[in-house]
Amino acid sequence: MTGSELIDELVTALRCLPGVGPKSAQRMAFHLLERDREGGRRLAAALEGAMEKVGHCRVCRTFSEAGVCAICANNKRDQRLLCVVETPADVAAIEHGTDFRGLYFVLMGRLSPLDGIGPEELGLDQLARRLESGDVAEIILATDSTVEGEATAHYVNEMVRERGIRVTRIAQGIPLGGALEYVDSTTLAHAFTGRHEVR
Ligand code: ZN
Repeated sequence: MTGSELIDELVTALRCLPGVGPKSAQRMAFHLLERDREGGRRLAAALEGAMEKVGHCRVCRTFSEAGVCAICANNKRDQRLLCVVETPADVAAIEHGTDFRGLYFVLMGRLSPLDGIGPEELGLDQLARRLESGDVAEIILATDSTVEGEATAHYVNEMVRERGIRVTRIAQGIPLGGALEYVDSTTLAHAFTGRHEVR
């Protein structure tokens, strides 16, 4: 409590950010008010714009303000390679750390029956339709090497193999239990080149 309703509201609002507790939220609020009002206004405008306008690419499901994202819309990319990842952060990590120039399918999560996340929530029906289009020659499974990430990879693998399409899994080097987005670029690049066929 700061004695100001507006500041209290700002502090409460900042706490929606991951890892931000009451103390850091208050520090951020005071920092913006004391030292960086311009930064604060810019932050407010950026938040507003992104929250209103960013949706999902209708082809790969990643975040996009256009109906089709820039990667899917780029016809120089290899349409036959489709990399399946859990989150848009994974796309960013792969784009940054590897020379992969295929396309993506973003699950926006992982199978987690206890949380009510099944194949439908991950858009796997959409992935199935895409596989049936006949354009995809290889699926690269790049889900996290967590228990749920592996379970998701297993499920997608079954689905793809049923349709006679080659499936590979990115290689070892991603630490067990590791989230892809936190893996350094060198390891990630090696994991990509060293991907192996799933049986
Ligand atoms: Zn897309």
